[in-house]
Amino acid sequence: HYLQNIESNQHLNAFVEVYADEAREAAIAVDEKITNGTAGRLAGLVIGLKDVLSHKGHGLQAGSQILKNYQAPFNATAVQRLLDEDAIVIGRQNCDEFAMGSSNENSSFGPVLNAADPTKVPGGSSGGSAVAVQAGLCHASLGSDTGGSVRQPAAFCGVIGVKPSYGRISRYGLIAYASSFDCIGPITKSVADAALLIEIMAGADNFDSTVSVNEVPAYSRNLEWSGKARIGYIRESVESEAIAPDIRQQTSDLLNRLRAEGHEVTPVEIPLVDSLLPTYYILTTAEASSNLSRFDGVRYGHRSAEASDLESLYKKTRTEAFGNEVRRRILLGTFVLSANYYDAYYTKAQRVRRLVQEETSRFFEQFDFLISPVTPTTAFTIGEKTEDPLQMYLADIFTVQANVVGNPAVAVPNGSDENGMPIGIQIMAPYFGELKMLAFAQYLT
Ligand code: GLN
Repeated sequence: HYLQNIESNQHLNAFVEVYADEAREAAIAVDEKITNGTAGRLAGLVIGLKDVLSHKGHGLQAGSQILKNYQAPFNATAVQRLLDEDAIVIGRQNCDEFAMGSSNENSSFGPVLNAADPTKVPGGSSGGSAVAVQAGLCHASLGSDTGGSVRQPAAFCGVIGVKPSYGRISRYGLIAYASSFDCIGPITKSVADAALLIEIMAGADNFDSTVSVNEVPAYSRNLEWSGKARIGYIRESVESEAIAPDIRQQTSDLLNRLRAEGHEVTPVEIPLVDSLLPTYYILTTAEASSNLSRFDGVRYGHRSAEASDLESLYKKTRTEAFGNEVRRRILLGTFVLSANYYDAYYTKAQRVRRLVQEETSRFFEQFDFLISPVTPTTAFTIGEKTEDPLQMYLADIFTVQANVVGNPAVAVPNGSDENGMPIGIQIMAPYFGELKMLAFAQYLT
């Protein structure tokens, strides 16, 4: 069924590679296990992996030419845990190069098209993963979220995307973009599926020292919401002219519904909101410039044929094989880490990050959830923002806070605009507050 759907939707460009024969064989093997009564909890679940997750013996390129012909020599912990429960991996999915982008236009495999309107972007960076679920090309996808890359494409495509707390799911085997922000997260059609996937992937792992040893609650069996929630929302998100009118309307309709259902709904100020994007883009580019230094033409993938010495090997390899956005961010990151500017940018951004963390913790002493739109606009037209990176970065205004502070957040569909393009609502919860957050998300859907 899914292989046929992939075949008839090739124009969407959601998959970089499809493992048709392997998936068929896996399905037959799982079928046998079901007959024998030995099948795992994900038996029959057909999953796609964003092209940043290691899957042993399969190609892995992070949407880039610099990793051309690279094959993952091991499984990411998250992938291994899904396979152990008999999930079937159907292919790897198109994404922005090294997960840098908000529209999937930075992929060396070309843009992905939004299935709701193929002239529009699917969002990014996990665009292929969101479209694959939206268009029924697989049951669920795994994406990665450094600043919104699971939630923003989920919102643009009308599906569910969860960014768990930082450290909830091991990052082992995830190609690093910004290590102190990166989270693996599921994209699904139901909250129950997302809850089950997180439950299976989460928890202690000897291969990632930043993963939490906190016990993993049975998210999937606790999705009944009861009681009244204390909800804060940013006033601008329903008032500011900078937010598309249909999004303001749908958001305020939802808040009114929640009020009518007896929840406490309060407008709040987030004083540091203007600092979120600068902080995010300074710290993530700094970390990226360091993480991406390993792609030097010696160890992996592409190697320039034009090089005459070691220095030119590095330069030519990286110039030939990295795309524009990746180069821009390596340059920016190298600049903010350079001796003369380190304190002015990097140190200062670290301080602001701490302040935002403190402010957010104080917020969650009073509230259960922070609710906002996921994005200021619905999916935009392909090509519309490619010339203006700052415009593109603004697409992340609501999503980056969760990554700056490490908290979990979920994007849930909340109607559509006048052209039928999906709108999403974001619920952000306290650190390690996935259990209540998922139950509330279920209640909203
Ligand atoms: N759009 C954001 C960026 O370009 C988020 C990317 C992500 O979460 N990987 O950095």
